[in-house]
Amino acid sequence: MKAKERMTIPRQPVVEMAPAERIKSFDEVVSGFDYETAVKEANRCLQCKKPGCIQACPIHNDIPRFIRLLREGKIEEAYWADRETTSLPAVCSRVCPHEFQCEGSCVRGKKGEPVAIGMLERFLVDWMVANNKDIMTPCAVMKNRKVAIIGSGPAGMTTAYYLAHEGYSCTIFESLPVLGGMLTVGIPAYRLPRDIVAAEFDALKNCGVEIHTNVTIGRDKTISELKEEGFEAIFIGVGAHNSRKLGIEGEDLDGVMQGVDYLRRVNIGEDLNLGQNVVVVGGGNVAIDVARTALRTGSDKVFILYRRSRKEMPAAAAEIHHLEEEGVRIETLATPVKIHGEDNRISQVECIRMKLGECDASGRCRPIPIDGSNFMIQADAIISAISQNIDHKADKGIDIKLTKWGTYDVDPVTLRTSVEWIFAAGDAVAGPQTVAKAVAGAKTASESIARFLEGKDLRAGREPESC
Ligand code: SF4
Repeated sequence: MKAKERMTIPRQPVVEMAPAERIKSFDEVVSGFDYETAVKEANRCLQCKKPGCIQACPIHNDIPRFIRLLREGKIEEAYWADRETTSLPAVCSRVCPHEFQCEGSCVRGKKGEPVAIGMLERFLVDWMVANNKDIMTPCAVMKNRKVAIIGSGPAGMTTAYYLAHEGYSCTIFESLPVLGGMLTVGIPAYRLPRDIVAAEFDALKNCGVEIHTNVTIGRDKTISELKEEGFEAIFIGVGAHNSRKLGIEGEDLDGVMQGVDYLRRVNIGEDLNLGQNVVVVGGGNVAIDVARTALRTGSDKVFILYRRSRKEMPAAAAEIHHLEEEGVRIETLATPVKIHGEDNRISQVECIRMKLGECDASGRCRPIPIDGSNFMIQADAIISAISQNIDHKADKGIDIKLTKWGTYDVDPVTLRTSVEWIFAAGDAVAGPQTVAKAVAGAKTASESIARFLEGKDLRAGREPESC
């Protein structure tokens, strides 16, 4: 096929549940490609000599290679080409903000639609599962060297995956009653079905990984006690689960909640109805997840308040599109200034309009309140989803260096903390980030832990970790 002909192939359509149907349940909204559609989409790839998609993928998956194998009909080989670099293909293919990562650098996107890389990766995993193929690499022989992993989110799962496959004896400690960290208690099931996360943990258990839920390190036992129990290295992957408050008057009223707390309660199974009118504050994926979850739990007038303009919303475009299809209204250039209440319960949110002022080097402009532009929104609940901080229970009693943002201060090459036998990655190091970045960081940390346990140079031949 000539290059000119190739440029005219349209991106293959994605099948989705209708908006009126999807808000009645937590079933997965987007269906995967069938074989024919996947091959057609794979044929849109130009097999670039210098593929930007690989560099833009935080894990550096060899995207052109798995696409080439897919379109040659070698599905298993394509899956294993992807699996060489990633620990969580079924997860990342569903939840990555592809337009900011691999698809954002696809040359096809410069003159139209980028190749649907996420959907192709998802097709490979779904095809393997549907055809009863083994999707995990074989387990290793155990070496009787113990590593403790604090947190069972994507960083902890990835560290356990790589170290267990090297034969190290890994034990995961999770403070919640469920496994998966943000994958389970942050991301709603309509974006990431729970059986996918459960299958990853089954595979880890099959390879000898021990898992303890409802154990909070720093409360039930300390890191020092783990060391005394024979764990030679510790990995901290506790994520960023503490929501930042709005810092405005009225935040102590009933009906005021924090985004990740709300998502955690619903995702663990609490029957939580916020009332009819809900205001969500923020423009990222957490805000979108909160708003769409509120619809699914019975609220019907849901607003998002975002203080900058729409083009600056950090949420993925597909998520914003789904949100609006489901009937959520986005009020941009507006922010809450006071929460009003009656009988100790929220009744209205007072907001103010904003305009954009000076922009920084990245093009992000400073929102400035417009005097006298205040307006009111009726509200039964307001949920702050503006950002999250790190919970430091895990490092209780350990003198460990933190950054000025409260994240763990690590060596950029090895992801070792200021304590030589403690390593960290994921949101606990980088702040709230994507799943793929947590996977990339945890891969680096697990390589460092293996070198540490074998007495090797941690830095030799390695570049700084950008994630
Ligand atoms: Fe294919 Fe796009 Fe990657 Fe080029 S950038 S190799 S077209 S997926």
